Amino acid sequence: MNQERAKLAERYERFQNVFFLLDYLVLGLFLFVLLLGGGKSLSLFVWHKVSEFTGANFWTSTLLFIFLVQLLYQVITFPYTCVKDFGLEKKFDLSNQSFFGWLWDYLKSTILMTLLLLVALLFCYAMMRYLGEWWFLAAAAGWIILQVVLGMLFPVVILPLFYKSEEINEHPCKERLIKMLESNGLKVTGLYRLDLSEKTKKANAMLCGLGATRRVMMSDALLEYPEDEIIAIMAHEVGHYKRRHIWKLAALHAALIMLGLFLLSKVLALYCARAGLNFYDAGSYPVFLLFFSLWQLLTMPVTNGFSRKCETEADIFALQSTGLGSAFASALLRLADGNLAVLDVPRAIEIFLYSHPATGKRIRMAQNWEGKS
Ligand SMILES: [Zn+2]
Repeated sequence: MNQERAKLAERYERFQNVFFLLDYLVLGLFLFVLLLGGGKSLSLFVWHKVSEFTGANFWTSTLLFIFLVQLLYQVITFPYTCVKDFGLEKKFDLSNQSFFGWLWDYLKSTILMTLLLLVALLFCYAMMRYLGEWWFLAAAAGWIILQVVLGMLFPVVILPLFYKSEEINEHPCKERLIKMLESNGLKVTGLYRLDLSEKTKKANAMLCGLGATRRVMMSDALLEYPEDEIIAIMAHEVGHYKRRHIWKLAALHAALIMLGLFLLSKVLALYCARAGLNFYDAGSYPVFLLFFSLWQLLTMPVTNGFSRKCETEADIFALQSTGLGSAFASALLRLADGNLAVLDVPRAIEIFLYSHPATGKRIRMAQNWEGKS
């Protein structure tokens, strides 16, 4: 990476960190305004209106209130989202999308997320109604089932909503790749080329889907990399599979979510008692959202720490199984250059925000590996 590019990556990183903080500040401010005034808060005022409007029907009032809070948030934060998601990528010349192209994707993803959120929250509040204080066990189980279903559907339903992909029929290293996957006991339904360059200058590779939908996805830009580099990158993905990282990470998330929901349950009980709400009234949703966002923020060092450990294990697997140390190092450097990632970050930022070890560390490990073998 040349010096100019490295400086640019540092600026990009700084912007991303500021936006990360702003995300929480904006959400915090929004919820503060909703909850301000205790018993006379805007949130409770709207909840009582919604209840009146639906004739206090549990299902419709729950859905309508949560939908209104979400809609209000999306509308108010839309200019901010434009700057953060579209403006930033354009500013750093990472996006190949027009504004309207981006807007279409934004609408699709917002509708999809809102639908999922409504279903998930309706389930949570229904469990509060029928199971009382034990609702969090059912909610955590529901979360696990949702992860499995989404994992299976991701490559065949969700990804195609945003990106085109096609099976790779011919590629110089196709045979080599398939041999590597099979020798590691990994059955995939195919190798796919993901058309990322239509939208972004970034490159990526992943092993996605579960069971019958599991497949290798490589972005078009990545397919142009030298053969050894593609093999090394995919060996890293195979490492995740061999070490069962997806399941270990899912188990950690499930445990943290269960603990979070248990604590949330106590907070909701207190709030509902003070606000004159039933425990299962969706009028508590702003408190739900506030607590859960804070919980996510607090547990980030734990989930990211575990994720970095998995990434290092996958790197070691790639190096051990292929012996392609220098190819892996140059692939990581090429990815960092294309994706405008900084090579070294302050330790505190890495601990808190990074799901992968800083690229510089990974590159040095790969280079030293080459030296050793
Ligand atoms: Zn990885």
